[in-house]
Formats: sequence, structure tokens, C-alpha cells
Amino acid sequence: MTEAYDAGPVAALRRIAFLLERAREDTYKVKAYRAAAAAVLQLGDDELGRRVGDGTLTELPGIGASTAAVVTEAARGRLPRRLGDLEHRLGGPQTAGGHALRAALRGDLHSHSDWSDGGSPIEEMAMTAMELGHDYLVLTDHSPRLKVARGLSASRLARQLEVVDAVNEHLGGATSAAPEGFRLLKGIEVDILDDGGLDQSDEMLEQLDLRVASVHSKLRMDSRPMTRRMVAAVRNPFVNVLGHCTGRLVTGGRGTRPPSTFDAEEVFAACVEHDVAVEINARPERRDPPTALLELARDLGCLFSIDSDAHAPGQLDLQVHGCERAEAAGIDPDRIVNTWSRDRLISWARPR
Ligand SMILES: [Zn+2]
Ligand SMILES: [Zn+2]
Repeated sequence: MTEAYDAGPVAALRRIAFLLERAREDTYKVKAYRAAAAAVLQLGDDELGRRVGDGTLTELPGIGASTAAVVTEAARGRLPRRLGDLEHRLGGPQTAGGHALRAALRGDLHSHSDWSDGGSPIEEMAMTAMELGHDYLVLTDHSPRLKVARGLSASRLARQLEVVDAVNEHLGGATSAAPEGFRLLKGIEVDILDDGGLDQSDEMLEQLDLRVASVHSKLRMDSRPMTRRMVAAVRNPFVNVLGHCTGRLVTGGRGTRPPSTFDAEEVFAACVEHDVAVEINARPERRDPPTALLELARDLGCLFSIDSDAHAPGQLDLQVHGCERAEAAGIDPDRIVNTWSRDRLISWARPR
């Protein structure tokens, strides 16, 4: 006997994509499911029923044999086998701890769309953040110098801000009349240049709700100049969050990379002085900062943000990995800026 399933083909395809992305499968493998969901969404019920009946789903662009099987099973009210397998294998809790803190998070400060190196459109990221129960998601695509990640020039960023407005309107997000709804916030993950400057114009940075600043180049710089570089960025009045501070990679498809070296006490003290949050990057391949630095930042009195750094919708659900580490380090939830209300967060993030 197969299990009953009543959420329909689009939800089945999206759930499969979500589970694969959360497990950080190659986005190429996942794209087929998202493309098929988009294709099915465009069909009327009549055409869907007819094509399921006569087995012609695969004639549609975007639907192959395996996605057609999912659509057919779901349309007939049965749990698709592929989905059942994935729920069994990947659908359970990702971590032992961190769940209470995760439940206290109101949003996510670091995420990427297909405008830079993410795999999905802005609206799909926003929709998934809503489904995860967030009040907001900050969209933080890369800045121009990160060419491999298709970083956004000032003019592309200006265009993206208009798209964010349109997405908020489309999602019926928060307005002054209904301030409680979900809202996609305007942000950036801006590169920290070699001299500590930021890779975007002040004019553009000013228009954003929040800015994450990260080092992506010359990660092996000597400790002294690296410390100066990071402290200069932290002092910049536009910077709100110091992203993945050591740049290390501990596991995963991109291989491993040692942490950058810098005077962490000096950098974190500057974060305290200038009201900049130290990011706990939740990606399992980053686990950044390492535990000793996380505890140092805790002892120095830093604020924190726990961010997914999602490059696909399902990766938005990786935050619990960072929550588990923050809980283990005994960090007070009130020092984690994404436990705050959206209004409090936005006013904290105004340029100093
Ligand atoms: Zn980054
Ligand atoms: Zn990022």
C-alpha cells in the first residue's frame, strides 16, 4: 500500500528540492525539480489531469521521466516514492541541539539569489523564508569585485532594489497598514577590500536595510595587515555584521581551507565598540567562527547574528546548525540580533 498524499504535485516537487538543497546537494541536480514545479504551476487542472492520464507530461519542457513520476503519483493522491525516500533519509532533525534557539529566531541576515551565485530567483528565496516562519529575510548578494560570484555592480544593485519592492508587493508583505507580515529586506554581502574599504558606493550602501561585510580575497594575508583590514571594515559606519570572519572551510565539496590569521581580540573589541555583530555562519562546511573564537567574542561582549548564508531555498533551513553552536557556547539569546523584532533590527542597522 502506498501512503496517501494530498498536497499536490507542485508542493511535492518543491519539498523534494528543499530537502536536497538542505542536504547541500549539487544545485544542478535540484534544478530539475524546481523547473518541473514551475512548469506544472503553469498548467491548468484540466491539462494536468489529461497529461497524467495519457502519460504525456514528459512532452512538456522542464519535465523529465523522474519528475513526471513524482507529478503523476502526487496528482493521484499518493505519496511520491522519491519524496517518501527523501523524507525518510533527510527529513528528520538536522541536529541534536539548537532547536529552542532556532525557534526564537525571527529571520535571517545573509542569503543569496541567482542575481549573484545563488541557484534560485529572489521570490523563491522569500517564499521559502516565509514558509520557515521568518518575519524577514535579508537578501545579501555579492558586491562587484567578486566576479566569480557575479557580484552586483551599483546599477544592478539599484535594479535589484526595485525587484525587492516588487516582490514585497507581490507577497503581500508588510506595509504601514499591516506591519506584521513577512518582509524581504534590502542588503548586501559587501567585500572587504585589501585596505579595509568596502566594495560598493556609499550612495548604494545607504539605501540598504542591512550590510554584511566579509573577506573573500587574500585570505592568507599576514596577521597584522589582516587585523588592520578587518578593524577598518568594522569601523565603517555602514557595516552591521562581520561575515564568516576566518573564511575557513572544514568539509564539503569545495575542500578545506585553514582559517585566516588576525588578532581576534582586537577585531572583536572593535565589533563591540562599533556595535557590529559577529556572524555565526551556520553552513556546516564553514562553522565560522571556530569555537575558541566564538567563546572569545562571547567573553568580550559581542553581538551575534546566526545566518544561513543560503545559496538555495532549502539551505535557509541550515540556521539550526549555528543555533546548536551558540547554545553550546551559552550565548544569551538577547545578544543574537536575529532574535530581535524586525523593527528593532532595522533601527539597529541604520548607518552610525
Ligand atoms: Zn561570503
Ligand atoms: Zn554569503
